[in-house]
Amino acid sequence: MNLPRIVENSPLARIARHKLKAHSVAMVLGNSIHLSGATREQFLTDPYWVAHEMEHIRQFQEHGRLGFLWRYLRDWVRHGYYNIPFEVQAREAAERNAPLYAHGLPLPGPDQRHPTPKVR
Ligand SMILES: [Zn+2]
Repeated sequence: MNLPRIVENSPLARIARHKLKAHSVAMVLGNSIHLSGATREQFLTDPYWVAHEMEHIRQFQEHGRLGFLWRYLRDWVRHGYYNIPFEVQAREAAERNAPLYAHGLPLPGPDQRHPTPKVR
């Protein structure tokens, strides 16, 4: 499985982290995953989290950078963060695809998984 580029301590992800009031965030921009509050190591040990962000990578490829960002922001305003269709899809993909990123290890339990931000 080819992973995209991972950027640690990303200033853009830090803005998203404050906006989402989250302890740590990952954010996809094009073919890169930007992290704030989590190391590459911490990110990669949660296969649900990796599968979630890989779905955003796929969405970016499907809609293009501008198409993705435009829809994402429009739907955030319309529906709130949790109900953005791209986020709903990514949460579903995480459940479905986590085993692909678990490297044969047991999947983490609910309390070990990266939490979804609960903001609007
Ligand atoms: Zn997401």
